Amino acid sequence: MPVVSDMAVVLRRIEYSETSQVLGIFTRGHGQVRVIAKGAKRSTKSRFSPGIDLLEEGHVSFSARADRGEGLSTLTEWKQARSFCGLREKLERLAAGQYVAETTLMMTVEGDAHAVLYDSLTSALQSLCDGAAELEAALRYQRALLESAGAWPRLEGCVVCGRGSALTYFSSLEGGMVCRDCEGVRVEKRAVAGPTLEMLRGLEGAGDAGGSPVEEVVVRAFDVLDYHIAHLAGREAVTASMLVPRSRRKVT
Ligand SMILES: [Zn+2]
Repeated sequence: MPVVSDMAVVLRRIEYSETSQVLGIFTRGHGQVRVIAKGAKRSTKSRFSPGIDLLEEGHVSFSARADRGEGLSTLTEWKQARSFCGLREKLERLAAGQYVAETTLMMTVEGDAHAVLYDSLTSALQSLCDGAAELEAALRYQRALLESAGAWPRLEGCVVCGRGSALTYFSSLEGGMVCRDCEGVRVEKRAVAGPTLEMLRGLEGAGDAGGSPVEEVVVRAFDVLDYHIAHLAGREAVTASMLVPRSRRKVT
């Protein structure tokens, strides 16, 4: 198999043996790839200089091997491009970075390239390093992730009847807001307050909406999108509660 070169971010790292690691990487041109890095834990080996860390970006080369089993590719080279070491300066930053990584793994499949999402991912990690508000950075990435998956919800009108007012519930299954008259028969739904809906709509615009949003509204908007992502992926992101404690979530 030919050796492929790309840019990649490390989203998951599993210790495989005394000397090797299995990495879940998200590449710009080849999507999610699982690679085995033999000898990665021996710092004297220069192929993987200077070692491979979670959430760092690098120039990667790997060869897909049919005889590897379980679809593991062999990492042949890793050269660090950006360490995003600023993530480790603050617990909330690292939690936001880990949430971004986990949801990327949840919402993408191996070998399916999403260059735009890759750029959103590295932008999110960079903005966190630069001191962006953690939850807002995570919220913007949720938007990019759902957009990339073609699952950004309909927020302007009721997904059932089209009505533009009294939109009080969000349904992941229906793919958007549901009005007061239509929500009755929908089992899968959650209440969404007006300011939360406005915040979610604001994410659709280009750039910043301006001003500092109310933190509780950001929490609620994050929670709605996290709920949608969990529903689509079939499991909850465990890192969500590291970013926002459960006691602050599950409210409208
Ligand atoms: Zn309706």
